[in-house]
Amino acid sequence: MIQKLRQKRRTGRMKQRIIFATGNKNKIREIHEILGDLGWEILSMKEAGIDLDIVEDGTTFEENALIKAKAVAAQCNDIVLADDSGLEIDYLNKEPGIYSARYAGEDTSYDIKNQMLLDRLQGVPREKRTARFVCAIAAVVPGHEPIVVRGTIEGYIGDKPAGENGFGYDPIFYVPDLNCSTAELSPEEKNARSHRGNALRAMREELKQYISDVR
Ligand code: IMP
Repeated sequence: MIQKLRQKRRTGRMKQRIIFATGNKNKIREIHEILGDLGWEILSMKEAGIDLDIVEDGTTFEENALIKAKAVAAQCNDIVLADDSGLEIDYLNKEPGIYSARYAGEDTSYDIKNQMLLDRLQGVPREKRTARFVCAIAAVVPGHEPIVVRGTIEGYIGDKPAGENGFGYDPIFYVPDLNCSTAELSPEEKNARSHRGNALRAMREELKQYISDVR
């Protein structure tokens, strides 16, 4: 508290607080990497002292992101961002889609989930293995209509897992122009082209109207 007041005295205003409604450490890391230069105070739900079990029962990424953002916004007076993301594989009718985290069970490891998807695509040629990561981000700004944006990255499901970076389905999701998986990219390379990076950059533009010191 004292630190905040000192900062206010020095700058003449408090830092804009943004709460990101997620408990996923990988997402928080990516968000800091993409929005970190703005000088906002970005807090996870836990850091903001908010403990909620939110039921994501929407039928689209956008609906789920909004459900999460609204639930957290009801607990505070800050700007709240929430995302919902996942992998759509065209050959599998866009599965696992909004069920990406729950695919084959929430507690099943990604080594197993990834292998299950590779098995379902056994023998399917490269041109039919197209896929995309999708990320919807919703923002609730006190006193304003909610904002929702979407970012995607197009790719294909490789023949085998590769790479140690990233998380989730990264080892099997390949970027066509690089012919490597997103788990083989550095965090900077992934952020520059990822669904979440694209959605966050779109959201940053949207939020400019509400936050005076956005660069
Ligand atoms: P959410 O937390 O409900 O948005 O679930 C997203 C799920 O989609 C994650 O648990 C991953 O399975 C998958 N996913 C989303 N973004 C990525 C990514 O950048 N790399 C790999 N998997 C991702």
